[in-house]
Amino acid sequence: DDELVRAVDRIMSHADARRRLQVRANADNAEDAARARRFGAQGIGLCRTEHMFLGERRQLVEDLVLASSDEERERALAALEPLQRADFTEIFQAMAGLPVTIRLIDPPLHEFLPDYTELAVKVALAGDAAEEKDRRLLAAVKRLHEQNPMLGLRGVRLGLVIPGLFAMQVRAIADAAAAVPGARAEIMIPLVGAVQELEHVRDEARRILAEAGVEALVGTMIEVPRAALTAGQIAEAAEFFSFGTNDLTQMTWGFSRDDVEAAFFSKYLELGVFGVSPFETLDRDGVGRLVALAAEEGRRTRPDLKLGICGEHGGDPASVHFCHQVGLDYVSCSPFRIPVARLEAARAALVCAGSDTR
Ligand code: PEP
Ligand code: MG
Repeated sequence: DDELVRAVDRIMSHADARRRLQVRANADNAEDAARARRFGAQGIGLCRTEHMFLGERRQLVEDLVLASSDEERERALAALEPLQRADFTEIFQAMAGLPVTIRLIDPPLHEFLPDYTELAVKVALAGDAAEEKDRRLLAAVKRLHEQNPMLGLRGVRLGLVIPGLFAMQVRAIADAAAAVPGARAEIMIPLVGAVQELEHVRDEARRILAEAGVEALVGTMIEVPRAALTAGQIAEAAEFFSFGTNDLTQMTWGFSRDDVEAAFFSKYLELGVFGVSPFETLDRDGVGRLVALAAEEGRRTRPDLKLGICGEHGGDPASVHFCHQVGLDYVSCSPFRIPVARLEAARAALVCAGSDTR
């Protein structure tokens, strides 16, 4: 067994010596970060901060979103900030000076709100006896209720609409980074489709970072088709791009990523519209063209623009190969897929150095 382990280690170190693509992990807590490092991650490419607000903390986000006064909102933010500072401190410690890309909160809002239909039924059934508290809650939830939450108040939109939310997160990141020697924070803004959205958030983030005396890159996800199409403009305000190919695939095809098992998918496989689900392997002809275009136009604006991918495709061999070909700097995937990504990155470098056979 020892011999086998040594052989695997040898293969991996040969692969690492040959690949150009860096391999990072998607990790949201210190435990995943530690696991990612054991698998050889060179950083965290996506820390989804909305995952930090599940369980007991969910109520605080609900309080924040439904706050009816500045005081209520500030109280919720003040309760969240130390929790976030502790989250980020642990992750920076676990990554020991490797880069950590922290994405500001991007929840589909309904996950944090009481169920609208359930609440409406409860109030309706109670009639005149309905509690005042429930009536007020229903009115607040109704205001935010959306038919398509995945196309609604998510990502950067949430940050622009709820005062103080992104600022709280950036302050927590800055304070945590200041407290952990060598910490390398990269702040990532989700769901951007226009440079103006990014400029607002970036300016505020820069101000907070400067106040804390902390340096951090500020960049964006490219996951809305419009962001890819206007990448040249967006690169004016971003120090890095990370392709969110889950959303980019959903929005380019117009398929819901939450219904990938939808009835027509098996029909499409049978008809050869695609050989594999485009949510598993990057669709080169469509989504891939948007990635290539954004990479090229982004770098034309900003030659040192750092480019990565953090959608599920970052751990899929055929997609990793494509990422090498279009010149990305890194792929980021679930910790368990890191070894495969390292091997494929090396294979892509070797194959592409000759002629590409794929
Ligand atoms: C993506 O859209 O590809 C992505 C990484 O973000 P999320 O899956 O969290 O929407
Ligand atoms: Mg996304």
